[in-house]
Amino acid sequence: MREILLVKNGEIALKGLNRGTFETALMKNIKHALSGLGLIRVTRAQSTITIEPVDDNYDMDEACERMKKVFGIAAFSRACAVSKDMDVILKTAPDYLEDTLRACKTFKVEAKRADKAFPFQSPQICAKTGEALLRRFHHLKVDVHHPDVTVTVEVRDQFAFIHANQIQGAGGMPVGTGGNAVILISGGIDSPVAAYMMAKRGVRLTAVHFASPPYTSAHAEMKVKDLLKIVSGYAGNIRFVCVPFTKIQEAIKNHCPDDLTTLVMRRYMMKIACEIAKQNDCDALITGESIGQVASQTMKALAVTDAASNLPVFRPVIGMDKEEIVTIARKIGTFETSVLPYEDCCTVFTPKHPRTRPVLHVVEKAEQLPDAQLMMREAVENARYESIR
Ligand code: ATP
Ligand code: MG
Repeated sequence: MREILLVKNGEIALKGLNRGTFETALMKNIKHALSGLGLIRVTRAQSTITIEPVDDNYDMDEACERMKKVFGIAAFSRACAVSKDMDVILKTAPDYLEDTLRACKTFKVEAKRADKAFPFQSPQICAKTGEALLRRFHHLKVDVHHPDVTVTVEVRDQFAFIHANQIQGAGGMPVGTGGNAVILISGGIDSPVAAYMMAKRGVRLTAVHFASPPYTSAHAEMKVKDLLKIVSGYAGNIRFVCVPFTKIQEAIKNHCPDDLTTLVMRRYMMKIACEIAKQNDCDALITGESIGQVASQTMKALAVTDAASNLPVFRPVIGMDKEEIVTIARKIGTFETSVLPYEDCCTVFTPKHPRTRPVLHVVEKAEQLPDAQLMMREAVENARYESIR
């Protein structure tokens, strides 16, 4: 029995003349997500993307798990492909759907007859398939309004496909169709969620992480990479950029008023991230900030942080409660790693009484450091690049 996957696009279907571009991106991302599992053929016809394994012992279970994370897919079905012969369809359907149908009480059959030359019309296909299933599974009843399972028989160009109930996809838009942006990534809970949310809208990510050895350890950086690896299951390849931040942080500690150090540090992060964004063809910054969560995330503090960036700053979790962010972190699988206790450069020099109502011109004066330009240039030049996938 040959199994295949049938993909139902999400919002892509609404893209009119650009639809082809979106579908091509989605097909590329599907191939990337399934890479390493064996040879497949990915084709597109009649607004459905079909994935056919070439090898006999292809791991369909693993393929389905990966497909659930590919943005741009509203739903997909695992289907059996058979020759376009009514007898073969009627013989195969009960065998293929056995496990599913034994686990439910009611069903209905839907037919899609794309090949108008097929000798049976849709109502006949439904009736014959329904009869064959009732003959085999005596506990089943037909319920056309609220069935436990909808069995679908699709007669296409080359094959007929038999499948039951769709698997929900990740939604969103194919990664790569929404532009490129830099995510400022820490090892915390919020920024991996922010990364996931922007990737869901089709944004390709470059992840910038500031490390301050020896104040921050190699473990802390490893934790960030582990988080990005999880996010890359959804976001595809992520360019990881680790920026050496020790010199700047020490200079801030030595020269700035204590109550402004966090804010000044955040502004240096923004400036360096903008530079790295431009070098990597990115048009925006993303952070995991949420209003009121900590002192540096009051409205006034965010405004002061924003003023350091000459690119738009997107904060997808800005209006979310911590609990809501945690729910997404658990869903996407980053939570357990995020709560591992490693230090972040934001927390190593935390002031006792950070200013919550900062004034921009005061902060701009406070952030004047000797050799600031040189230190920033060095940080950008000495950044380490890696590909996470
Ligand atoms: P998170 O859970 O994402 O760490 P947070 O609530 O702990 O967020 P902060 O530590 O103040 O908040 O950081 C705010 C944002 O600044 C983070 O969401 C992230 O986007 C960015 N950020 C913090 N630390 C770093 C770092 N070491 N490197 C890069 N970006 C960072
Ligand atoms: Mg943090």
